[in-house]
Amino acid sequence: SGFENLRRLGIFDKIETVTVAPADYDSVHRALRVAEPDEVYNLSGQSSVGLSFQFPSETLESISVGNLNFLEAIRVIGRPVRFYNACSSECFGNISVAADGTTPFRPRSPYAVAKSAAFWQVANYREAYGLFATSGILFNHESPRRGIEFVTRKITDHVARIKHGLIDELRLGNIEATRDWGFAGDYVRAMWLMLQQDEPRDYVLGTGESHTVREFLAAAFSFVGLDWEQFVEVDPRYFRPVEVEALLADASKAEKLLGWAPKVAFSDLVK
Ligand code: GDP
Repeated sequence: SGFENLRRLGIFDKIETVTVAPADYDSVHRALRVAEPDEVYNLSGQSSVGLSFQFPSETLESISVGNLNFLEAIRVIGRPVRFYNACSSECFGNISVAADGTTPFRPRSPYAVAKSAAFWQVANYREAYGLFATSGILFNHESPRRGIEFVTRKITDHVARIKHGLIDELRLGNIEATRDWGFAGDYVRAMWLMLQQDEPRDYVLGTGESHTVREFLAAAFSFVGLDWEQFVEVDPRYFRPVEVEALLADASKAEKLLGWAPKVAFSDLVK
């Protein structure tokens, strides 16, 4: 899927790729020897909270073992490689106020448990070995290239097909959940900024604004002049064993130290 995106963007031919199996230490070590990177951005691993309930072992292996292998290979190789780990707002679990760097983790899915382990691995390698290793605790970040297993693209994909008369309904799970949704491009800029600082630090990144799935639906259907309530069915099949009901970020530290603020607002994101 990564390569499809790169091909579609026309940049696949301009870059060199090395294939890595992150859960296999030798593979990671070899890739770092070959590429000799100055910076590593680890975005690998299971990325769907929903799927993590179906594949709990694969989730832990791909996220936590994968992350550990990068840290350990960087330590063993001994070159000054700067490391970014993709942590997640899911680590907070249910929160009633905006989460910042002092909010405790209470993970509620195999995905969030694995991401929490990876967060502490990064902190441990930073403390124990002085690695320039950081975690970005990112709230939901979306784009047209997001897979349709996520609710934003599932909605916009269905809206387009309903508008063109190809289908006539959209079945969803919990539409009362709230999320802090931002644009992926804004978050990638923040990841890069994190590795350009003098000190390695962890950052919470989000827009500070939250919306329900219902609000996302209403906005998406209204952009094509349709009323969502005529097309949407709530289907318990899409409910999760446990659900994070609400997520909201306090990204003031990133604003202050990185000079970062998201540029794309909710309604533009949906559009
Ligand atoms: P997540 O926040 O990383 O789990 O991102 P998702 O886009 O997968 O889910 C966001 C929210 O939408 C969660 O609270 C889901 O329970 C809710 N949701 C409701 N219906 C659906 C659905 O059909 N698919 C997905 N993926 N999420 C849904």
